[in-house]
Amino acid sequence: MASRTFAQTQMVCSVVSNGSQTPSIVGPCTTCQPPTAPCSEVQNIRVNIHFLQHDDGTGSFGPFDDGRPGTPGTATTGYDYAQGLLYAMNGQMNQNPVLSLAPGSALTPVAKRIRWVLDGVFFDKSTLYRRNAGTTSTSAGGFAPLCVRGDSVINLFLTEEFDWPYVGPIGNTNSGQPVTNNVANRGYVWGSNQAICNTQAAPAQMWAVAASPWTGYVLSNRQPWQISSTLNHELCHLLGLNHPFQYGAYSWGECPDAPMNANCWNLNEPAIVDCDASNKVSNNLMDYNAAQAALAPCQINIMQDNLNTCLKSRYVYKCSNCLPPTATFDLSVIPGCMPVPIWFDSRAAVNYDWYKLEIDQVTAAGALIAGTHYESTVFQQPLGRTQLDAIYPFGASSTYRVQFTTHAYCGLAAVRLRTVTTPNCVRIVGPQRATAPAPVPVSTPAFPRQ
Ligand SMILES: [Zn+2]
Repeated sequence: MASRTFAQTQMVCSVVSNGSQTPSIVGPCTTCQPPTAPCSEVQNIRVNIHFLQHDDGTGSFGPFDDGRPGTPGTATTGYDYAQGLLYAMNGQMNQNPVLSLAPGSALTPVAKRIRWVLDGVFFDKSTLYRRNAGTTSTSAGGFAPLCVRGDSVINLFLTEEFDWPYVGPIGNTNSGQPVTNNVANRGYVWGSNQAICNTQAAPAQMWAVAASPWTGYVLSNRQPWQISSTLNHELCHLLGLNHPFQYGAYSWGECPDAPMNANCWNLNEPAIVDCDASNKVSNNLMDYNAAQAALAPCQINIMQDNLNTCLKSRYVYKCSNCLPPTATFDLSVIPGCMPVPIWFDSRAAVNYDWYKLEIDQVTAAGALIAGTHYESTVFQQPLGRTQLDAIYPFGASSTYRVQFTTHAYCGLAAVRLRTVTTPNCVRIVGPQRATAPAPVPVSTPAFPRQ
């Protein structure tokens, strides 16, 4: 078997059953939501990215650097990496090459019409969850406690290689060897996360776990596009797809278009007769292979049907070919007496071409106070992180409303607002002189006359 570069790192995935749910083919569900108007454009699905750090904040990407040991302050932040992940994932979802099948049975590819929109970036300081310990004994518990808006946003948790629950501290499950620069991309979803809208109502929460982007980044400078197919694979599980190569519990004959196969990684990998011709090597996103790019029309229909029925009212952010902007932001007031720094952080907001930032003082009832309005409209760079007290005269013990509106040139907009209350004490700035200094005579230079 040829050695693999990290770009072709084998992907290992599991769908963890909760034990009580037995996948099966049954008749139409009488309790599911009736179909609503199908979306003929792109289904845009919100995704939260979670970087699982150690308790002390190390061990993954951080909000201000890449967290690489020994070299703090490098430019790639968790926000950058999360945006890169979704950009790479969408690049793959926007394509659908021809599915590799036996000669004469080629299917005409159809558009997937599914795209991910970043809704938030989170840095979870938990050695327990970073080690995936939340799932080792009770898969039912899983990562649900860390989900943010889990009933309407898919939460994607990025853990790390040494912590993979089915590996232990030895490293790679495939090789049995300690982790090297060939760290595997892995992922899993939990059984009852998966949408099976023709038989069940929408899952209460949808979340997926993937390892180990940061380890791969630190060891081999692995980039977002090199893990994007793993993440798309897991999210497509959540939207209802199973593994075509498996027979039984996790592939219950869902798609005649995507037949069971020998699960070859690549041509002659492994070197068996079932993998000795390119048309025997699946390139299906839901198999394990080096390409993981194509989906059969039947698989796309399954996801679209789910998104048009039980997932529609909650998980579909927009049905639109215009990539929806988001206006996610956080406010933080540094503790102390006024004046204190007040930070606005919109680094998780994406897909916008111009924005408007507005600040108003409000009454206790939330009414805007006349004469306190500030606004700024910018048509170029994203706002990112900025110190609001440098641009607005915040008073003590007052409440302000901060509103952030983002616009995409293709027509969609997003708005989010938050309020912030300033401290009720005022810092005295500088010592007072006991006696005024003697006035210094000011000489006016003679102006040369013409
Ligand atoms: Zn899988």
